Amino acid sequence: MPIDATKPYDESNIFARILRGELPCTKVYENEFALAFNDIKPAAPVHILVIPKGPYVSWDDFSARGSAEEIAGFVKAVGHVAREAGLVEPGYRLLANVGMNGGQEVPHLHVHIFGGAGLGPMLAR
Ligand code: 5GP
Repeated sequence: MPIDATKPYDESNIFARILRGELPCTKVYENEFALAFNDIKPAAPVHILVIPKGPYVSWDDFSARGSAEEIAGFVKAVGHVAREAGLVEPGYRLLANVGMNGGQEVPHLHVHIFGGAGLGPMLAR
């Protein structure tokens, strides 16, 4: 079920539990502001999730409340992970679902990095 991205942050969400080390993940990269790990149900040959370490529900929440330092650290982590995965030359896609119409399932901001093959049209029609 997609979430309502205007709700307060829920400390019990799956990605908060991964950040606290309560649940495992296949870590790809970590810096002071972000953690990157493989999606449990990959939708492309490369499917990595990058999440901020702070408690932000969505892109909307992060862009409104995140500090300049957190935002810079997070954006740099996304770029770094894609470069390290060899995705720049063949190309890749970033996606951040927000709230109900965006189909966001986990109420902690995550940017999907998709790559490793041609990804087709931007949206299913
Ligand atoms: P959303 O639809 O919220 O943008 O995407 C949530 C993503 O999180 C999905 O692609 C889903 O496969 C992934 N996911 C959900 N639970 C887990 C988990 O426990 N571990 C990992 N690595 N990915 C998860």
